[in-house]
Amino acid sequence: MQTDVLVIGGGATGGGIALDLALRGVRVVLAEMGDLATGTSGRYHGLLHSGGRYAVRDPESAKECIDENWILRRIAPQSIEDTGGYFVLCPGDDPAYVDQWLKACAAVNIPTRQVSLSEALKREPTLNPRLEAVYEVPDGTCDSWDLLHAIQAGAEAAGARFLTYHRVEAFHLREGKVTGATLRSLRDDSMIQVECACIVNAAGPWAAQVAKLAGVTFGMRLSRGAMLAYNIRWVNTVINKLRKPGDGDIFVPVGTVSVIGTTSVRTDDPGDTRVEPWEVTKILAEAEAMTPGISRARILRAWGGVRPLYDPGGDQRDAKRTFAILDHADDGAAGLLSIVGGKLTTYRLMAEKISDKVCALLGVTAPCTTATTPLPAVHGGVNKLHQLRGRLDALEHGQLPGALVCECEIVTEKQIADALAHGDVVSLNDLRRDLRLGMGPCQGGFCSYRAAAIRHEIVRDSLDHTRS
Ligand SMILES: Cc1cc2nc3c(=O)[nH]c(=O)nc-3n(C[C@H](O)[C@H](O)[C@H](O)COP(=O)(O)OP(=O)(O)OC[C@H]3O[C@@H](n4cnc5c(N)ncnc54)[C@H](O)[C@@H]3O)c2cc1C
Repeated sequence: MQTDVLVIGGGATGGGIALDLALRGVRVVLAEMGDLATGTSGRYHGLLHSGGRYAVRDPESAKECIDENWILRRIAPQSIEDTGGYFVLCPGDDPAYVDQWLKACAAVNIPTRQVSLSEALKREPTLNPRLEAVYEVPDGTCDSWDLLHAIQAGAEAAGARFLTYHRVEAFHLREGKVTGATLRSLRDDSMIQVECACIVNAAGPWAAQVAKLAGVTFGMRLSRGAMLAYNIRWVNTVINKLRKPGDGDIFVPVGTVSVIGTTSVRTDDPGDTRVEPWEVTKILAEAEAMTPGISRARILRAWGGVRPLYDPGGDQRDAKRTFAILDHADDGAAGLLSIVGGKLTTYRLMAEKISDKVCALLGVTAPCTTATTPLPAVHGGVNKLHQLRGRLDALEHGQLPGALVCECEIVTEKQIADALAHGDVVSLNDLRRDLRLGMGPCQGGFCSYRAAAIRHEIVRDSLDHTRS
């Protein structure tokens, strides 16, 4: 297989790079060893940052977040919910931090508005009535699976090729330059040889391991974080503690549920997504100050993700959240670039910056257009289908034909059949990421059996069809 650029990693960063390059007319193949967004991008907190969280200690990151926040609202409205955000000063937290924070937000153009406690409680009745101050910021939420599918659709329409369940296992190097890579299909064990002029390593927390395949080493600071999902939306606005960032200080309404987190634990394993009991205890204890009584509410699930940070020094949470681009020409692997760090909120900017470098290497002069090119609407083009109200609306207007399979998230038999007809979707987990099947309050207790039966029918039919 021949291409100009091989992108390794189907998270937000890799997907964004494939889209950016394809829109500039570059031939791109993206290889992802799992489904899209099975790495950190599918295990994150769901917050479209306003930048408020980073304003004091990492203004560069904060500025990137607010700038990209405005851009993503324009180009990916179908993946974003404009929940707004509150920063709340809890009893016992340092009131002197407020002034520092307000000045830091103003310096990077993050709009803030003081909200009276009565107004805040009217909008969010579960908030602590003893909060000492509340400020509104333009936080939002972003469905990363939906975003990745839109990115894939946009990139493929521009000529890119996405190979999911394909792992990069070796690089081809000649005279200090990468010339291609060997990919293994994790579906049928077949091997693909890719010849290319340039390789972008966007493997998130695996980036250092991937670079080692080319004999290149660099340090990463992997930081594991835990999140807990409640069975309902206890809040409809993103709630952040107004203090130096710490554990358990963000509460995010995500789809039909709400998610509290996180922690920050050093790890050396990019696949270390476990959640330890002390993390749950800590998050719940911290959350009580924002929303009293929440530690006794029903939790559906807990999961972890690994931050792919690039900062060798300092305290874990003080590591910068901005990104770094590493050109490995001086490491004996010209044509290989790695990108690490950043946030999901800043994926587009990260993609733009590294694509500029790739284009310079290839002699391509076309400019980046991703800041002004809207992403296509996925799921049959019905906008807002990622939100329950959008799906309900579509159902009521006959746009979601077929029997209802997942009542919590409104997923129909036809949607499952359509998704399975697309070669990328095979397992129930793939369906979960594509359609939010089983993500609601029953946690797949009913729909997973129905979906398994539908899947069996369809896969068996296809096999029969192939045989005949
Ligand atoms: C707990 C937690 C909470 C977070 N919350 C937020 C938040 O609320 N808002 C926000 O903006 N950001 C948040 N982040 C940060 C954000 O999630 C990450 O910065 C971002 O998702 C990283 O995306 P990525 O594409 O770089 O990496 P990933 O999403 O990890 O993608 C890398 C991909 O590379 C693939 N890969 C690895 N090796 C190979 C190989 N050999 N061959 C093929 N494929 C390979 C992996 O399977 C993976 O899918 C959070 C992070 C964590 C850990």
